[in-house]
Amino acid sequence: MSFKQFDFNPKIAAGIRACNYETPTPIQEKAIPAILDGRDILGLAQTGTGKTAAFVLPILQRMLKGPRIKKVRTLIVAPTRELAEQINSDITKLARQTGIRSVAVYGGVGKLPQIKKIRSGVEIVVACPGRLLDHLRDKTFNLTKVEHLVLDEADHMFDMGFLPDIKRILNFLPGTQQTLLFSATMPGEIRHLAEEILDNPVRVQIAHSRPTATVSQMLFSVEQNRKMTLLKDIMAKTDMASTLIFTRTKYRAESLARQLHKAGYTATSLQGNLSQQKRQKALNGFKRGQFKVLVATDIAARGIDVSGISHVINYDVPATVDAYTHRVGRTGRASCTGEAFTFASREDRKIISQIERTLGKKIKRNSDSDLTVETPDRTPFPARPAKKSWHKAKKNGRPAGGRTGRPAGRGAKPASKFAGAGKQEQPQARHHKAGSRHKRRSRAAMMVDGSGNLFLNP
Ligand code: AMP
Repeated sequence: MSFKQFDFNPKIAAGIRACNYETPTPIQEKAIPAILDGRDILGLAQTGTGKTAAFVLPILQRMLKGPRIKKVRTLIVAPTRELAEQINSDITKLARQTGIRSVAVYGGVGKLPQIKKIRSGVEIVVACPGRLLDHLRDKTFNLTKVEHLVLDEADHMFDMGFLPDIKRILNFLPGTQQTLLFSATMPGEIRHLAEEILDNPVRVQIAHSRPTATVSQMLFSVEQNRKMTLLKDIMAKTDMASTLIFTRTKYRAESLARQLHKAGYTATSLQGNLSQQKRQKALNGFKRGQFKVLVATDIAARGIDVSGISHVINYDVPATVDAYTHRVGRTGRASCTGEAFTFASREDRKIISQIERTLGKKIKRNSDSDLTVETPDRTPFPARPAKKSWHKAKKNGRPAGGRTGRPAGRGAKPASKFAGAGKQEQPQARHHKAGSRHKRRSRAAMMVDGSGNLFLNP
């Protein structure tokens, strides 16, 4: 399939060429014709599928056909400033030759430049709900001429408590607009909203629950207090062009970026505590390659589109399956390959099995490291629990040994690519023979099959 069949205006076709898009992505194939026909859309798709161009291109085409009235004709609502900026930047590239201009509107920055820009005849507003409502209440501009409304990442807007704001914003719209609602998941509240505001929508669904096939995923079993060591070990031994690391909290993101910086990596963090200016600086620095590592929380990283991220590291396992697919989808974008590493400790067992159920396959375990094969009872994901924990063995006066049977102290040699971190993970073996016995038992217990899945060998 080619973009030619949509018969886009040559000015839009030029934008597509400028972005180097050769063939439409699956969501573009499905959504573009329906949007061109003026239909409402319920799109179940995550970021990374090409969904922005899927709605921007046909909207531009419809806008070019209509009268140019120097009023806001398209409103796009997005949950975060980063996503708003991203969409705005995609529009700027795709619409360059059309003369249609857009502006991103969000809080944390001055209102005046936004007002000036809108009043200068901008026809597309990409806004976060809070600041948009401020403007609407201040009557700095109105939405009475809006022909197209897009609600992007609706589930995240709901997660972030924006649903009441969205409903208020709807009151400022003419009610005759074409409405496109995109969401990666469909919680009840979003389904109700869709039923309320969409008129006989075309449903477009793109395998939203699976990360792209071009991303290879690997799971590392590691205790909380060894994560930093493992991370540094992996980073030292892997060629990582551009790495996005996810942590659970803002504090952890900030602290991890600081530690990596101290360790000599060009690292920065993106988290909610930063001012908009600092967030933009971190993001731009990462995009330009000035920072090779960006440590972020889920909220802060939402919607960021940086091409060429070679690695995503889940330093902390995400709380939901959806967050996992979102994170992993930051790499391997638009047919590039990428790697996603997940650091999981024992407590993460439940969410990992949920993720694997959704993926429909086991995530490959790191078989090259001491970490997964050493102590089956401490490995979070054995097919069946090992009989004896090493804590027990220690209590019984039989210390458990490391894989090498050597103490993991000075002089111990790494046994594998990622062995440095693994060694620290191991309990100290004071008794060589017992260590070897444990080693044999561990090796016999944990095997890796041809597809890289870990299983227990009875
Ligand atoms: P999105 O899902 O909108 O965040 O898009 C993900 C990435 O895919 C962005 O970097 C887009 O520029 C890129 N992209 C969108 N459509 C295409 C296409 N048809 N061919 C290649 N890349 C695309």
